[in-house]
Amino acid sequence: MFQAKAYAAVSATAPLAPTTIQRREPTPHDVRIEILFCGVCHSDLHQARNEWSGFPTVFPCVPGHEIVGRVTAVGSAVTKFKAGDTVAVGCMVDSDGTCPECVAGLEQFCPGVTLTYNAADKHSGGITYGGYSDGIVVDQRFVLKVPSNLPLAGAAPLVCAGITTYSPLRHWGVTRGKKVGIVGLGGLGHMGVKFAHALGAHVVLFTTSARKKDDALRLGADEVVVSTDANAMQKHAGSFDFILDTVSATHDLNAYLSLLRRDGNLTLVGAPSEPLKIDAFPLIFGRHRLSGSLIGGIAETQEMLDFCGQHGITADVEVIRMQDINSAFERLLKADVKYRFVIDMASLKQ
Ligand code: NAP
Ligand code: ZN
Repeated sequence: MFQAKAYAAVSATAPLAPTTIQRREPTPHDVRIEILFCGVCHSDLHQARNEWSGFPTVFPCVPGHEIVGRVTAVGSAVTKFKAGDTVAVGCMVDSDGTCPECVAGLEQFCPGVTLTYNAADKHSGGITYGGYSDGIVVDQRFVLKVPSNLPLAGAAPLVCAGITTYSPLRHWGVTRGKKVGIVGLGGLGHMGVKFAHALGAHVVLFTTSARKKDDALRLGADEVVVSTDANAMQKHAGSFDFILDTVSATHDLNAYLSLLRRDGNLTLVGAPSEPLKIDAFPLIFGRHRLSGSLIGGIAETQEMLDFCGQHGITADVEVIRMQDINSAFERLLKADVKYRFVIDMASLKQ
């Protein structure tokens, strides 16, 4: 075992504070990583504050699942990585590897999946600790290669915000000629805009924040609709092939279901803590579909990273010190981030 510096929440109401955690020495299949950057996902805030009744938080909780770092050591059976490699770790660190979901490359749906934090840790017998830390040890199957042309801080959010938007856009066949809506311009939403644009779609960004309009156009949206403007919404009625909803709080889904064309689909990736109300009629009329999506499998995450390398895509980030995480959480709640906070782990040494 070795000690790592980290930031943890000790209760749902406590601010995150410095702590020391135990990490395992690499087993033959493990990669030891010095964490350089970690993105701040809204899921980190939901989990640290114990907002999801279906996923109770075990305290102390060390969040963080948008990890980029450098390999410092590898186990004797590791073939994919060597010391010095630049790598990433997303929302998962293990799975059973044999179930139909794993065989299909959809490890996120494996009944035995181990999430990067707040999950049972089969090695320690305790709970997994995430990337708000200076080091982590991960099975090589869950370590990803970062294309060498990508800036590291901007690459970190790709392994959650990136794959969570890339995967449903690909699954639902977004290509040139499709009209695609992205709801919410936060960490996930701004990646959704970039990917939908890169895939050639006509992209409409829906926001509650009129001040984000110019940024949305710069990021790749063709049109921006302020969702509180009923007339502007009505102009798009019945016209979308696909809508991706990334909103972190309770909101009116029915307004978006009515914007789908016949057989159009709305995929939810946002995970508000409260149930969303669905009216039957905006689903019935137009044979509309409502679906969900959870991150993406490991092979698809590597595909997404390689796509980003080829197209020069990274997140737009505000780099912060670890010590500033609590004010970053408060700003996240106000939808005040352009467009992902990323922690520079060098600050943990201060
Ligand atoms: P974020 O950066 O905070 O962005 C959320 C955006 O939602 C905000 O920027 C805001 O955009 C909009 N919004 C916030 N409150 C709203 C409200 N009351 N009404 C309408 N719009 C509102 O969060 P994120 O990190 O992108 O995460 C978004 C959600 O996805 C979270 O619930 C997170 O837990 C979830 N998530 C799911 C997965 C998955 O696999 N399914 C993976 C990662 C995260 P505007 O200012 O543009 O309106
Ligand atoms: Zn996330």
